[in-house]
Amino acid sequence: YYAKEQGLSCCRFAEYMRTINIVRFELENDIRRGIVRKEFFIEYQPQVNLCTGKMVGLEALVRWNHPVRGLIPPSEFIPLAEESGLIVQLGEWVLRTACRQNKRWQDEGFEPVSVSVNMSVRQFRDPSFTEKVAEVLTETGLDPRYLDLEITESMTMDQKWAVNQLVELKQLGILVSIDDFGTGYSSLHYLRKLPVDRIKIDRSFLEEVVQDSSDAVIVSSIAAMANHLKLKVTAEGVENKEQLEFLKRQNCHDAQGYLFSKPVPALRLEQDFLVKAAG
Ligand code: C2E
Ligand code: MG
Ligand code: MG
Ligand code: MG
Repeated sequence: YYAKEQGLSCCRFAEYMRTINIVRFELENDIRRGIVRKEFFIEYQPQVNLCTGKMVGLEALVRWNHPVRGLIPPSEFIPLAEESGLIVQLGEWVLRTACRQNKRWQDEGFEPVSVSVNMSVRQFRDPSFTEKVAEVLTETGLDPRYLDLEITESMTMDQKWAVNQLVELKQLGILVSIDDFGTGYSSLHYLRKLPVDRIKIDRSFLEEVVQDSSDAVIVSSIAAMANHLKLKVTAEGVENKEQLEFLKRQNCHDAQGYLFSKPVPALRLEQDFLVKAAG
């Protein structure tokens, strides 16, 4: 039913999902095996500073190259990985791989950019999560200021827990962003208490921001509030120049979207987007 929920009922994968119980079990095993057999890989999507036009960051987005079913998007396997708990293992792999890759690029003389990694609620709830992140940083040698962890509003519902966890994480020197902002339930009052660096305005508000005046008000309010709270603000899903111009007028700092690039494999990113540092 995940596939259906996502409006993908016409595709092959949804058919596959119909015989749900057997298939669910099978798919879980597939994920488990896929991790071992290295069927997962990461694509990186540029994040661009709106003042300078320079790429300042990357978002790491996991993909699955299934041996039989081909390329499966995260919307179709992340929910199942979450439910089965396999997301913890997969998420750690993504984190380690993205950090290692980013460090390698810096060592190769490219201008440093931050890498954003999506966290699942299971990872965030793990009491030893900070330790695991610290381990990955030590192991890969990545300077913590170039790692950004993306959490969602729903992960911060238990405020006391979330604040503690975030304070611990922030002590590592990393960045924390709130992803898909505006789609959750957090009040502004609530946001003020969370030690985060950045909010990412959800793509759904950008879609019609130029045509729809209420979307425009939402986006400009989020940007104004973020500026007021001294948080950085990134817009997701920017697809055209009109959206870009609108965002610039709202003092939105960074943007991410197809206008700049779709998520691309590491090699493409290196060839087309990364810049050699001077000297
Ligand atoms: P997200 O974190 O909000 O990532 C942004 C999604 O928007 C990506 O979809 C990206 O390809 C898409 N996108 C970016 N720019 C545009 C645009 O201009 N137009 C449109 N239409 N779409 C755009 P993707 O890669 O399919 O990932 C979907 C979601 O899966 C992510 O949403 C994230 O929540 C989850 N995800 C991806 N990788 C991971 C991971 O490693 N761990 C966890 N826990 N979740 C992940
Ligand atoms: Mg994200
Ligand atoms: Mg996300
Ligand atoms: Mg998002």
